[in-house]
Amino acid sequence: MTSAAGVVVVGGGQAGYSVVSALRGAGYDGPVTVFADERHLPYQRPPLSKQAHTEPDGTRVELVPESFYRERAIGLRLGERVTALDTAARTVVTGTGTRVPYDHLVLATGARNRRLPVPGAGLDGVHALRSLDDALAIGRALTTARDVVVVGGGFIGLELAQVAVAGGARVTVLELAGRLLSRAVSPQLQEHLRQRHEHSGVRILTGTGVRAVEGAGRVERVVTDRGVLPADLVVYGIGAAPRDELARDAGLAVDDGVIVDEHLRSVTDPRISAVGDCARHPHPHAAGLVRLESVQNATDQGALVGRRIAGSAAPYRSLPWFWSDQGAVKLQIAGLRTDTDEVRVVPGDSPDRLAAYAFRGDRLVAAETLNWPAEHLAARRLLERQVPVSAGDLTGSTLGALARARRGAGVRA
Ligand SMILES: Cc1cc2nc3c(=O)[nH]c(=O)nc-3n(C[C@H](O)[C@H](O)[C@H](O)COP(=O)(O)OP(=O)(O)OC[C@H]3O[C@@H](n4cnc5c(N)ncnc54)[C@H](O)[C@@H]3O)c2cc1C
Repeated sequence: MTSAAGVVVVGGGQAGYSVVSALRGAGYDGPVTVFADERHLPYQRPPLSKQAHTEPDGTRVELVPESFYRERAIGLRLGERVTALDTAARTVVTGTGTRVPYDHLVLATGARNRRLPVPGAGLDGVHALRSLDDALAIGRALTTARDVVVVGGGFIGLELAQVAVAGGARVTVLELAGRLLSRAVSPQLQEHLRQRHEHSGVRILTGTGVRAVEGAGRVERVVTDRGVLPADLVVYGIGAAPRDELARDAGLAVDDGVIVDEHLRSVTDPRISAVGDCARHPHPHAAGLVRLESVQNATDQGALVGRRIAGSAAPYRSLPWFWSDQGAVKLQIAGLRTDTDEVRVVPGDSPDRLAAYAFRGDRLVAAETLNWPAEHLAARRLLERQVPVSAGDLTGSTLGALARARRGAGVRA
């Protein structure tokens, strides 16, 4: 399918890359332009919090080399921000005032970190982690930091705490809620993870808020509700908000993300799609609309929209899955754990393995595993194929064992 103005993608991250890769893969031969306000080629964010980055060379994390875009005639406009959408004229406006027309527009603008709302958050040595540039600044600081305070016991904070402690720093994680990962994983896994982090030397202070960051020009200490901690590096990860302001300013429906239908088209303007961290979408595994921040979601949504613009019509139904590497612990999640009624925890065949199965009614809807990739894959397979699994089915059994037994008995699994 060819058209005059072609496809414009705003955002050169995981989802934007996936859109253009799928577009060309599906044979779309019209003009394709990606606006990316970072100066790096599209790259993966997961490695940024799982190892220390000190080299300014971004090639270690880039998704594909520059030749990929050149060979496919994908116009990659690095360092160019789109500042407005004119949906009536079907053009985007860039920071330099250039207007670029589109037949179809894809918003893949991702999310931005919530700012630490305390005095002193702007001091040198206080960092958030989202971009490769952030990771490089933190990596450089880690080479000399002795006392690291991580604000926020979520995935990114805990991953970075492990990187810092492995590098020899004294590390404290401050979490306002009573538990780590309080909204993200089951309470049983939260407690297990806390023990693993403490065992590796990370000090965890839950139920502890930050009041201020202090120092003469650079951070020297963090004032908390429960005392003062020395710090020469503070990294905070206290959640992210979707970058949906372009859509909102253009009059598209927005509610903590650009609202899209099951084909990931804006419910206001079908010539505009939104994918990845910035999109709020219906999902067969969720009761209402959801906005997910994961590589799987960004990749699969981008691919679906790329294929749709090229002519395919399938709705978005991909099973959500996620991983987080926290030192020696690999946490993997399959499915969506929202609105669940019961969680069953099953120990693995070694002390570092654990699984938590979440049920809505009498049906398995999510599985969380620690250091147990085979069980994660079994969960994904069963959930993707919507094979019913009840809590009773898992009495004294794992999902892997259940699937093997069912296949052995000739039952779909
Ligand atoms: C440190 C870190 C670790 C992570 N680890 C994991 C993990 O282990 N597992 C997992 O599943 N997920 C992980 N994630 C989440 C995952 O990386 C994101 O969900 C994914 O990158 C989302 O892709 P996206 O394309 O929607 O957004 P992004 O990858 O954020 O890309 C959006 C891009 O659009 C650009 N942009 C925004 N507005 C404009 C504009 N107006 N004009 C031009 N460009 C614009 C942004 O600068 C950005 O480069 C991690 C995220 C971070 C930050």
